[in-house]
Amino acid sequence: MIRAVFPGSFDPIHNGHIDIALRASKLVDELYVAVYDKPLKSFLFSPQERIALVEGVFKGYPKITVVGYSGLTVKFCKKIGAQVIVRGLRVFSDFEYEFRMGLANHRLEPDVEVLALMTSEEHTFLSSTTVREIASLDGDISSMVPKAVEQALIRKFTELGDNHPVVLTQSTRD
Ligand code: ADP
Repeated sequence: MIRAVFPGSFDPIHNGHIDIALRASKLVDELYVAVYDKPLKSFLFSPQERIALVEGVFKGYPKITVVGYSGLTVKFCKKIGAQVIVRGLRVFSDFEYEFRMGLANHRLEPDVEVLALMTSEEHTFLSSTTVREIASLDGDISSMVPKAVEQALIRKFTELGDNHPVVLTQSTRD
């Protein structure tokens, strides 16, 4: 039985993430979408909010489980008995980052393999940072995220008012 982990910040989850998770879930027996709580990174959404949004997306998919985690991804894989880490690749810069991470993870835990799936063409430009930035400026993100995520972003930016420096926080790559 192949159990895989799709780790990410998902701040917030968008259609590019969903596409990778659904395609990966067809290749494995169980997919854990694992929402990372990085203490050093400031997020727009709290871990609980990010997990709830991801859970909402995958609730009709029996092969997919949503969990929160912190610490090393390979340690988390070992803990739950997962043999595979799934990642998504957009542009060349993703490749460089994922290549480095993949090799480091392999050094730490040689039994855990990285499965990198190329993005679908229509999601090439999509990142959580782009979605946050457009949403913060009242742009239309309806083609980029599910309805519940769009509503959560609108609520969040209404709550924050004009003062939302957190939006400028860059992800590790985007
Ligand atoms: P992280 O902080 O771990 O990079 P993200 O939530 O930004 O977390 O991304 C999680 C995974 O989803 C990463 O492997 C990333 O490359 C992938 N990903 C993000 N956006 C897309 C997209 N548009 N198409 C395919 N994969 C994507």
